[in-house]
Amino acid sequence: MKTKELLSLLACPQCLGQLEAVPGENEPEGFACGRCGCVYPVREGIPVMLVDEAVSREAWDGGAREKGAAS
Ligand SMILES: [Zn+2]
Repeated sequence: MKTKELLSLLACPQCLGQLEAVPGENEPEGFACGRCGCVYPVREGIPVMLVDEAVSREAWDGGAREKGAAS
């Protein structure tokens, strides 16, 4: 499935905002919510759309890919 098609199916589980892909080397590394600023990681090609797993955009940009991970 292409990223664009995938995006059309995904909304932020927290605020239902629209998600945008965070580009990685080959596939998106994560999906960022434009509304609340959470980033949902993609692990082994599968987007983890769980509020509990979301990382703040700030932490993500600082290198965190998991909630609570040291940057
Ligand atoms: Zn959101």
